[in-house]
Amino acid sequence: MNDQPFYANGLRFSCTRCSSCCRHESGFVYLSENDLSRLANEFKMDYTAFIETWCRWIPFTQSRERLSLKEKSNFDCIFWNDVCTVYNVRPLQCISFPFWDHVICSPKAWKAAGEDCPGIDNGELHSREKIEGFIRQMEEEPVIEREARK
Ligand code: SF4
Repeated sequence: MNDQPFYANGLRFSCTRCSSCCRHESGFVYLSENDLSRLANEFKMDYTAFIETWCRWIPFTQSRERLSLKEKSNFDCIFWNDVCTVYNVRPLQCISFPFWDHVICSPKAWKAAGEDCPGIDNGELHSREKIEGFIRQMEEEPVIEREARK
């Protein structure tokens, strides 16, 4: 039985700067403690002020909410302005794209993600170690959650 993941020999991805993952469609950019720390520090804001200004709480389960960046009325990320304006401190979710667990879980999921992203299956070869490093890092840096507010 072959227990190697389909990406055992790596996967190709290079960002083409098409920006489709940063804008156009509604979505969530979740933040970990580490993300919040780097972003708040960049803006010289405390956590509370940064969350009030740039974030929103998204219902996750009936009793839990997750912290995400806001988006504009046209669904662009709040930090999109022709380019990512926080690129050097962008969240891990952005850094690790497209090596997310639900994208690399199967060849089918990987191909499906490629329908929206011209960078998938093109360009730089990313090793299995690098891909699994992102997955590990996302497990180690969970998204910030709180009790849902009634
Ligand atoms: S933080 Fe930057 S890279 Fe991440 S979704 Fe927003 S604009 Fe895109």
